[in-house]
Amino acid sequence: MAYGQGTRLPGESASKLGHLAVVKSPWVKALIAEFESALPQEGDPSGSTWSSFSSENVQSLSRVWAVDGSFVSVKAAQHPPREVAFVKTALLAIDRARLDAIDKEHPHPLLLQDVLRDSAVFHATVFPLKNVRTPLGTNYDAVRHIIRDSMRIDEDGAFYETLKWLAYKKWSKHPTNSPAFNCPHCHIEIKSGLPINTDEGQCPKCDGVVFLTDMLGFHLDMDEESAPDSVASAYMLMMELLMLFTAIRIFWGHSDKSLVTDTLFIKDGPLTLRSQYSKLVPGLRAFLQHAKEIERPVHVIGQEKSGAFFDHLASIVRFPPPHSRDEPTSYSVLSHDFVRREVYRSPDLQNPYGSRTNWGEKLYVKFDPGTYMVLNVPTGNYNEAGTFPLADDLIGLDRILATLPSLISHKHEGALFPVELANGIASLSNYPSAKILQHFMEAPLG
Ligand SMILES: [Zn+2]
Repeated sequence: MAYGQGTRLPGESASKLGHLAVVKSPWVKALIAEFESALPQEGDPSGSTWSSFSSENVQSLSRVWAVDGSFVSVKAAQHPPREVAFVKTALLAIDRARLDAIDKEHPHPLLLQDVLRDSAVFHATVFPLKNVRTPLGTNYDAVRHIIRDSMRIDEDGAFYETLKWLAYKKWSKHPTNSPAFNCPHCHIEIKSGLPINTDEGQCPKCDGVVFLTDMLGFHLDMDEESAPDSVASAYMLMMELLMLFTAIRIFWGHSDKSLVTDTLFIKDGPLTLRSQYSKLVPGLRAFLQHAKEIERPVHVIGQEKSGAFFDHLASIVRFPPPHSRDEPTSYSVLSHDFVRREVYRSPDLQNPYGSRTNWGEKLYVKFDPGTYMVLNVPTGNYNEAGTFPLADDLIGLDRILATLPSLISHKHEGALFPVELANGIASLSNYPSAKILQHFMEAPLG
């Protein structure tokens, strides 16, 4: 869209618009009047409701796992230019006791090394984007096979096992077939999904071989309209989810039944799966609901560092307490109605907010006058009511809020230290260096 540069010109006064015919519209007039008046606001215009939090008698969580990822596309200086995308994701385990010993502003490198030793796992792969051919087949098939092989090979298949655990509800007493999905060859919907615990099957219509990883639907991101790197970004998000749930799955099966509940699992970004990937959402909710019901609640948060919620919170955060560092933390749980009315400002009556895509609900937290965050916390089952959720619906909110203050980074505003560490490992900007990536690209491919 054009007009992008308009955002950089706030000084251009609205009265310049006076000669436009559209100003005759009372709606446009009201909008311009609002711009020109620009009175300082005296209260939160969105009317968010905040509660104060006390960590008294609340047990904080003793372990933290954080996941983050990155991807980068690299072009080789050849004609036609070949292009591939590298994806890297990292999962990091941290013991709170060891973390507490570290200065979050100037971490001592040796102490940091100690925290990270044997506690970080990373996963990386590469996808063809443009003008890359392998002797094995088309790009389309190459990407399908790379996804299957990358997930199955790494960490002896631990991440792939997690995909099966989620897709077939293997955590349940009654596992099921996989969710339905579209055949990557003939595109009809395979309604029955794949049978429990299988790695591949046959399309009932075209007899083509379909992999469990095809169920996720990356091939739908490879049509001509998609951005070339959309598979890479979708794969990164999926691997972040699978790595985090690998930690959850392993703790879930551990003989020490309290491990999973005494841990905070942190994902960078919202707890959302868009379009075809949302078929995993009902299973994620069902697992978290089941865990809650059998009194082994799993504490998961997602942190949003940009986007509509972050911008909204930044615009109102000066109104609620704490106004000084001695005041307690406060938080605001956002109901579906509030999200529609105040954050998106577009009442969509057809679909309840987040019903298809979200496995966590939204929450604002203000720890001190300068530290605030947009968090997502799961509720288990989804409830489409406009007044949902309330604080009690968010799984383990008290224990989460009692744990977060010790994880706040002093280097970046509103950042969580474990996410910063995971980000450092997952970042492709320094590893492997862009030069090495380019060299790799220019070397002849087998
Ligand atoms: Zn088919």
